[in-house]
Amino acid sequence: MSTLRFKALETLPFKDFRRDNSVEVPVKLSELFCQNVFSEETMREYLTKEAFNSIMDAVKKGTKIQRHIADQVAVAMKDWAMSKGVTHYTHWFQPLTGSTAEKHDSFFTPIEGGRAIERFSGNLLIQQEPDASSFPNGGIRNTFEARGYTAWDPTSPAFIIGTTLCIPSIFISYTGETLDYKAPLLRALNAVDEAATNVMQYFDKNVTKVTPTLGWEQEYFLVDSALFQSRPDLVLTGKTLLGHSPAKGQQLDDHYFGSIPTRVMNFMKELEVECMKLGIPVTTRHNEVAPNQFELAPMFEEVNVAVDHNSLLMDVMARIAHRHHFHILLHEKPFAGVNGSGKHNNWSLATDTGENLLSPGRNPKKNLQFLTFFINTIKAVHEYADLLRASIASASNDHRLGANEAPPAIISVFIGSQLFRVLEELEKVKEGKLSPDEKTDLKLNVVGKIPEILLDNTDRNRTSPFAFTGNKFEIRAVGSSANCAESMTVMNTIAAKQLRDFKKEVDALIEKGLKKDEAIFNVLREYIKQCKNIMFEGDGYSDDWAIEAEKRGLNNLKTTPEALKQEMDEKFLSLYEEMGIFTHREVEARNEIKLEKYSTVIDIEARVLSDIARNHIIPSALNYQNRLIENVKGLKDIFGEKEFKNLAKEQMSLITSISENVSKIKLGVEDLIQAREEAKAISESQKQAENYCNKVKPLFDVIREASDALEMMVDDELWPMTKYREMLFTK
Ligand code: ADP
Ligand code: MG
Repeated sequence: MSTLRFKALETLPFKDFRRDNSVEVPVKLSELFCQNVFSEETMREYLTKEAFNSIMDAVKKGTKIQRHIADQVAVAMKDWAMSKGVTHYTHWFQPLTGSTAEKHDSFFTPIEGGRAIERFSGNLLIQQEPDASSFPNGGIRNTFEARGYTAWDPTSPAFIIGTTLCIPSIFISYTGETLDYKAPLLRALNAVDEAATNVMQYFDKNVTKVTPTLGWEQEYFLVDSALFQSRPDLVLTGKTLLGHSPAKGQQLDDHYFGSIPTRVMNFMKELEVECMKLGIPVTTRHNEVAPNQFELAPMFEEVNVAVDHNSLLMDVMARIAHRHHFHILLHEKPFAGVNGSGKHNNWSLATDTGENLLSPGRNPKKNLQFLTFFINTIKAVHEYADLLRASIASASNDHRLGANEAPPAIISVFIGSQLFRVLEELEKVKEGKLSPDEKTDLKLNVVGKIPEILLDNTDRNRTSPFAFTGNKFEIRAVGSSANCAESMTVMNTIAAKQLRDFKKEVDALIEKGLKKDEAIFNVLREYIKQCKNIMFEGDGYSDDWAIEAEKRGLNNLKTTPEALKQEMDEKFLSLYEEMGIFTHREVEARNEIKLEKYSTVIDIEARVLSDIARNHIIPSALNYQNRLIENVKGLKDIFGEKEFKNLAKEQMSLITSISENVSKIKLGVEDLIQAREEAKAISESQKQAENYCNKVKPLFDVIREASDALEMMVDDELWPMTKYREMLFTK
């Protein structure tokens, strides 16, 4: 019993510190809200009126901040931060590695005469050179400039972690190309603001700004940290590469919305306190479907801030989990046989007059406005479904999509049967001018009915990747470890493009003499006809849907390499160019980074699996087999040839079975090494990723199957890998 598994298991029982890590939470969480954020309220207190207004203008109107104002802001930020014990500052940014990055610099500055002061200036606030030459850049920086720099994003408030002031920033190369998730997101948000505000002039001329909103729901697993450390595959790849499913999994659904275990509750409480201080407005917590799986969700916020908050949350979660002797698993599929984790991205558009554009209103006019944004969103997804699919593609998310627990890789839109009927009615709208009677009928009987319909519309289709849920659309296929920015950049870009096109088409009809409403109805009618094939109300998990979707001409891009290949389509390249989000080179560079990341992930998994199979599984199996052989030999000694055969039957069969599986593993690993070497040698990224996907990855199953079979045969005391039941049911 010397393996890491048993050492880890020994630490579990009777260790009170694991359970009694209780957390003091004030009754009013609101008192903690934004304590560590340079929030609007704090700014009002610390900044001159001029500086405060300048920041607010930057946030609300995107105006530039003058250098002398930046100096004032920097000093105020420093004073505020120092009052909270802060000594360092960092530009906090989100490079394409998928995690967040920071480089801490001290306020401490030596000056003449052997003295020193705490200093922070506008220059330092605005720009920092992280010398981050080893972040992925798809060749952009190598060819042009050696360095990139980070630039302050005043639209997301600065915050404090520990003794460091964190300044949300974007990361760009000296040639102006984006090297992170945030810079393109900000461009997309501007584009959709402009397009939606223009369309809003049909309905309400008071609207001068439209802000997209995002409410994410984050799923995750918690595993005891000692058990985590005992599994090299979890440590190195974030997922288990082998392990037999436990006798009890999620069949009973007894964990879902069940009571939260004390130790987990302590973790959640501390997490919530920390979130409150950081201004992350978390409101919901509950158990998820799989054992030891949980979910957390905040109130929605404007997209840019919500994206930052999700990235920040993923960091904070890991730190706090650690304090409760947990390890947090954000991987999309850490355990085979039970549900994986996703991140639902709820999206809508809000006006500066306080309206939600995807919420039906009280009168027919408001409902026409609702229908406009509703149908345009469906049309955007219809036109650019593959791009949306590519935005959620990753090696880890491939395990989830289409695996009967998450929406399939086929992008479809669910709107509920009642709204579907409204669209069918609208499809009948006459072409061209409408008579007064027709107009009244339409307004009263079709458009006018929407609020009543939605009131009792409890239709909730969990199997759709893109669903309308009352007053927002929900992108359900995002991976749990993903940066929300990627899918949000695509979502807002395609919505912007669609709304822009819609405006042009409606204006053209108005020019031809149609009334505004008639023109809008006419364009929407055509959109409904064009989008019919992407709307699906049935069970997205079923095999029938895959067949049906194919008939409808919808793509089913099952793997990351397939999805990423589509991303390079001419249509998407021009979209990005037209909307000012990415140049061709930027798309190419990002595409390459993602392909390389995909290949690297599979390559690492292959190496870890080979290592565990050869150095942990085979030796343990042979060890047990030797014991069996001893036993058989002993029986033979005692009983003699005839009787022994009968008595040793089971052992003999086990011995054979072990040999067979050991041999399967050995051959599987040899094949895997060979396939890896071939894939590694390919220089073209797309081809290489396809090779890893189609030639390397399938070999994992062969090895896993044999290893999991051995797990069922070998004496529990000799098995080196911590078992699924231990990881999933330790609370
Ligand atoms: P569920 O989808 O789990 O039934 P809800 O419908 O209450 O739960 O909402 C889930 C998420 O949707 C929450 O994170 C919430 O903040 C977000 N949400 C609600 N309204 C909007 C909106 N207008 N824009 C963006 N997100 C929203
Ligand atoms: Mg939801």
